[in-house]
Amino acid sequence: MGILWKIVNFIILFGALYFICRKMNLFDKMFGSRRRGIGEEIECSEKAKAQAKALGEDIDKARAENEERKQQLLKDAEAQARADGEAIAASGEEEAKSLIANAEKSEDQLMAQMRDRVSNDAVRRVAQITAEVLRSGNFENSKQALNDKFIEQIRELVSAMPSDILNMNELKKLDISIKSAQPLSDEEMKKLTQIICETFISCHNEVDTDVIGGVRMQVGDTVYDGTLAHTLDRLSQDVEDNTRQSDSQMRSIADGIKQQLEKVNGDIDVFQTGEVLTLGDGICRVSGLADVMAGEMLEFPGGLKGMVQDLDKNNVGVVLLGPFGHLQEGDSVRRTGRIVEVPVGDALVGRVVDAMGSPIDGKGPIKTDSFRPVESPAPSVLARQPVSVPMQTGLKAIDALVPIGRGQRELIIGDRQTGKTAIALDAIINQKGKDVICIYVAIGQKESTVASVVEKLRSHGAMDYTIVVAATASEPAPMLYIAPYAGAAMGEYFMYKGKDVLVIYDDLSKQAAAYRELSLLLQRPPGREAYPGDVFYLHSRLLERAARLNEESGGGSMTALPIIETQAGDISAYIPTNVISITDGQIFLESDLFHSGVRPAINVGLSVSRVGGAAQLGAMKQVAGRLRVDLAQYRELASFAQFGSDLDKSTRDTLHRGARMTEVLKQGQYAPMSAADQVIAIFAVSEGYADDLELSDIARFESELIDYVNRSYPEFQDEVLSGKKLSAEQQAKLKECIVNFKKTF
Ligand code: ATP
Ligand code: MG
Repeated sequence: MGILWKIVNFIILFGALYFICRKMNLFDKMFGSRRRGIGEEIECSEKAKAQAKALGEDIDKARAENEERKQQLLKDAEAQARADGEAIAASGEEEAKSLIANAEKSEDQLMAQMRDRVSNDAVRRVAQITAEVLRSGNFENSKQALNDKFIEQIRELVSAMPSDILNMNELKKLDISIKSAQPLSDEEMKKLTQIICETFISCHNEVDTDVIGGVRMQVGDTVYDGTLAHTLDRLSQDVEDNTRQSDSQMRSIADGIKQQLEKVNGDIDVFQTGEVLTLGDGICRVSGLADVMAGEMLEFPGGLKGMVQDLDKNNVGVVLLGPFGHLQEGDSVRRTGRIVEVPVGDALVGRVVDAMGSPIDGKGPIKTDSFRPVESPAPSVLARQPVSVPMQTGLKAIDALVPIGRGQRELIIGDRQTGKTAIALDAIINQKGKDVICIYVAIGQKESTVASVVEKLRSHGAMDYTIVVAATASEPAPMLYIAPYAGAAMGEYFMYKGKDVLVIYDDLSKQAAAYRELSLLLQRPPGREAYPGDVFYLHSRLLERAARLNEESGGGSMTALPIIETQAGDISAYIPTNVISITDGQIFLESDLFHSGVRPAINVGLSVSRVGGAAQLGAMKQVAGRLRVDLAQYRELASFAQFGSDLDKSTRDTLHRGARMTEVLKQGQYAPMSAADQVIAIFAVSEGYADDLELSDIARFESELIDYVNRSYPEFQDEVLSGKKLSAEQQAKLKECIVNFKKTF
């Protein structure tokens, strides 16, 4: 029933829908446009069909035209080919003709050549036969004519070939052989020799009235000078040297010149010369100087000296030792045959000299007749003996903790303005009355600084036994380079005479920089930090010359205190590490300590003396052994103590004692102390006699105590100097003195 009702409903709905669509013309709207599109497409296809038909007709027409054109072209080609064939036949005939002609020609040439060869052979054969005939026959006249002709023509032909010059250079001579049928006459030989001399040796006599008298001959680089002008020239150049001679040898310059002139009896001065090729900052290259030695001293115009550094194949590199402003390229240079040397001897003591030993203190010439080469080998192992005698610096911190022995090399190292020079000067001042010659070498410092150093030494009476060698910052690099060697040479003179010498190089960093400068100018390859590879050798060969000689070698000693300036405390830079490894220990100075008032600003932890302990006085060793341990403990605890407030008693005691010890090691400048005074001060503090004092009172306590002990126990000075350890009684006596003093303090 339900389904029937649904079907009836559906039919009614569908009928209603159809009726509405028809009423609104919807069917026509939906399908009309499609019907119209189909009609249009049918129309288009009709049109295309008509067009295709027209195209087919066009193609057929074009094909027919092409066929026609092809036939025509073929006809044309046939006609052309016929004409060409005739032309080719004609040219081939001509070519054949020319070939035949050529063949005929070459046959003629061949024949001609053959004829020539046959005739040449014949001529040669004839010449041979003739020569045979001539040799066996007697034709003296024609032979002589040939000789004459040779001599006449050879003059124009002979000349020095490059190979000849090479031979001359290498073999030092040139072989010239002459072959002839019979011996040449003397006359002929003379003529030939003359021609050869004219060609290979330019030898001519030039008149020059400037030479005054005598003859000067130059062969290559070697001069044989026997002229009066030269003798006078040498004399005037040697005035400086003459004035160095001692009075006994030469009473006055005038007398000297007179003596020399009397000697002028045609003596020939033989020397080699060269010529300045190029000139740089304190260095130059010189040609010639055929047989020059490394390290040899050269003479330039104006009394300027030079030192040979590089020996190249064609020229030598020279460092100029002095002001070189007047020097020009092309100037002549003279060999001296001697290694660079400086004057040495007692006459230098108390003087200020430059790196060449010339006085610069305005006190007149230095009279000495001894010279030493600036570079000389260090004493051998067999000539040495161990360090065992102390070299007192008079500074408590050094003599107690880093003792220096005679013949030792102890480096003073630290940043700028940390009191390096001050230590060296105190060490010099402390040598008063100890029979030690001191040499202070100032390298690359300001002239004003050197002047004040000299003034300080003089005012403390230290110039009486001191030589100051100054190569100031304004001088050319070679002078800075050579100054320490000059100082060492001056010291060696005394050492080999059995004396004790203290030499200070202030400072070697500047010498290394100067050496780097001139090495770069000499175009040697730069290495680490641009220093040349041999900068280690620069310092090692200098410092090895410090030694303590054994008795057979004279028993003298040379103690070296080189100074090195570090940058921001960097002791691991190239030059510091080099010098640390060469020396027997170092005194390390610190900016921080210096500014916190610890002066001398010695870092006790980093400073060592590897051999000086053996040279320490017995009494000093006794008191210092304790000091070193106590100070080490103090340093360790002090770094802790700044964090903690609650410290146990023993820690507090150690800190208390340590602070007093640090205080007692402080020392003012130019106030070196005797060994006994140092022992008194250190003994009192390390035995705890200063524990109840304020830090600010320590300095006064120290100086008053020393005065007191020296008054009430005067033998103590000698007892310490004897080098023996303090006996129990001596210690008791010293303690008693201190206790008595404290009652009055
Ligand atoms: P530079 O690097 O310039 O050569 P330096 O390291 O040699 O310096 P000094 O010239 O010796 O240092 O000292 C620097 C300054 O410190 C100077 O003015 C000097 O007087 C002072 N000085 C050095 N040592 C002491 C000292 N023990 N007590 C007081 N002052 C000192
Ligand atoms: Mg200094």
